[in-house]
Amino acid sequence: KKTIRLDKMLGNLGYGTRSGIKVLVKQGAISVNGARAKDPGMQIDPEADEVYLDGEKIVYRDTVYVLLNKPAGYVSATEDRRDRTVLELLDEEMNVFAPFPVGRLDKDTEGLLLLTNDGKLSHELLSPRKHVPKTYRALVEGEVGESDVALFREGVTLDDGYRTLPAELSIVALGTNGALPDHPDVPKVADRMGKVPALRGPELKEAIAAESPLSWIELTIREGKYHQVKRMFEAVGKKVLYLRRVAMGPLPLDEGLAVGEWRELTEEEVTALR
Ligand code: URA
Repeated sequence: KKTIRLDKMLGNLGYGTRSGIKVLVKQGAISVNGARAKDPGMQIDPEADEVYLDGEKIVYRDTVYVLLNKPAGYVSATEDRRDRTVLELLDEEMNVFAPFPVGRLDKDTEGLLLLTNDGKLSHELLSPRKHVPKTYRALVEGEVGESDVALFREGVTLDDGYRTLPAELSIVALGTNGALPDHPDVPKVADRMGKVPALRGPELKEAIAAESPLSWIELTIREGKYHQVKRMFEAVGKKVLYLRRVAMGPLPLDEGLAVGEWRELTEEEVTALR
């Protein structure tokens, strides 16, 4: 049976320092199995013992799993000297668990980013041997066609000579002569690109002014090389203007999460990821 000191358990949950919790015990604010706790060092079995703080039941856990709809302008790191990190979008109650991003999205990429302090799960999701699929939607400058679909299915050669694994590309909507592709998501994306400085709004404007064809596509890859999606399109002479991840493994981006919002995963979702 795994036990933990009372003060450590509450400290790990963010209820204060060891000395702060000692004060709470002195004040009689904490009860264990119906009796007032007297010793901050008493051993607790988090599975079996019932701990109350100020009459509120404390549920202990040591892992957290967060689904974030990442906005452009934030880096997928726990610290950065220059840029805001995705951790700044969570709140302190979540950050006491010290979650970290599972893999990276570029600063100008939006969408599904998982954060956890579960190193084992993170490692499994990122393992190059596991080939966990990741699905993206992108606004691309250029007319994405069936020949690109075939090339991506076979694998394309990136600028460093790496040959990509087979990937599934589908053309969701096309726009010609500078028109936006006809899909309900695209006007919202174009609007965001005009407003958010980290996005490529000026490049979209230029593409529209030049009457370039624009494509709204979906791409599923099973690996995660640096800037992979952008470089795959570069390999076929096209440019990603906007990129959003919409799924990772069995987990889709929650449509109910606005950009910048997050929620914890349900138990079912965590189980599905394993
Ligand atoms: N591919 C990219 O080019 N950028 C990302 O952020 C993710 C995949």
